[in-house]
Amino acid sequence: MKRNSPGILTRRSFLAGCSAFFVSGIASPLSSLASPALSPLEARFYSKLKGGKTICGLCPHGCIIDSGERGLCGVRENRDGILYSLVYGLPCSIHLDPIEKKPFFHFLPGSSSLSISTVGCNMTCKFCQNWQISQSSPEDLDTDHLSPESVAARASTLGARSISFTYGEPVVFYEYMTDIALSARDRELYSAVVTNGYYSPDAIRQLCGLVNAVKIDLKSFSESYYRDICGATLQPVLESMKIIRDSGTWMEIVYLMVPGLNDSREEIEQMARWIVDELGMDVPVHISRFFPQYRLANLPPTPLSSLESAYGIMRDAGVRYVYLGNLPDHRSMSTYCHSCGKKIISRKGYRISSISLNNGNCGFCGEEIPGIWS
Ligand code: SF4
Repeated sequence: MKRNSPGILTRRSFLAGCSAFFVSGIASPLSSLASPALSPLEARFYSKLKGGKTICGLCPHGCIIDSGERGLCGVRENRDGILYSLVYGLPCSIHLDPIEKKPFFHFLPGSSSLSISTVGCNMTCKFCQNWQISQSSPEDLDTDHLSPESVAARASTLGARSISFTYGEPVVFYEYMTDIALSARDRELYSAVVTNGYYSPDAIRQLCGLVNAVKIDLKSFSESYYRDICGATLQPVLESMKIIRDSGTWMEIVYLMVPGLNDSREEIEQMARWIVDELGMDVPVHISRFFPQYRLANLPPTPLSSLESAYGIMRDAGVRYVYLGNLPDHRSMSTYCHSCGKKIISRKGYRISSISLNNGNCGFCGEEIPGIWS
């Protein structure tokens, strides 16, 4: 299956758009102009079918793949009846980021996270910020060869507290992600997943046993939006969120609010009720401002009034920690104790100027604040 992209992506045009992702001296993916050799690894979560076909069970698409073909994500290929991951050990992007950039606001605040991605995604979101990575094939981009142990070693050397799987969609490099998470654990590093949540139940359940935190991009609360804008379905994402909740893995939610598409009061109210009823009041929700890009470049940015309205709906429904994203100076970037209302983490953009927590309790009233703090 051929991936859609807005134009032919050359190495030069990709680098022009994405060079900020790379860190010289960390993965040095720019050091070689040679095309990388792929390192296929037999995939997990698949079954063999008659006639040499395979069916992939990693995500709800359940692609049936002929020999010589790839699944919708573009990085899992059937070779003579065996399904392979084409991106194991081949990151296209690696960078040391503040954990607030993911965003995680209740997970190791003020720490750095070694952030890593391969190409590929199992959705086709029309607003994707990282389409150069997510909608590319393994042959399109320069990559580095980096074993899971090497990734964890680099994170330690650089002083990161965690490794984040981010930028593209980690589900499509599941085998690499889980092996890195195991190596991170050996080095007493945390691991965090930034994901669309579009996994099979088995895959997300097993992942939750290995990682410490998951940030879910809940794209909308409507099936039609998921189908028309993202090329996926809503219900499996909601099921993943319930599995994450049951596992006790720390979770935060991001909702990118796109004007005219997923910003109705009714939709936000439904989502807020569902979050409180199914996940509880302590899951932080980040309502993020949309900026025109990729295939939705014709739309305006989200008005501040819509974001603040959504903030009020979430708070009224009982969500204790609501943040507005992509608004660096807004007061909602900071964290306020749900009990006494005092500011306990002061943020401006990704920078933290003060933290008033004592062993995870409010520094003013002593209330326990949900999250992973140290
Ligand atoms: S992970 Fe890729 S190949 Fe597997 S079902 Fe999802 S889109 Fe298809």
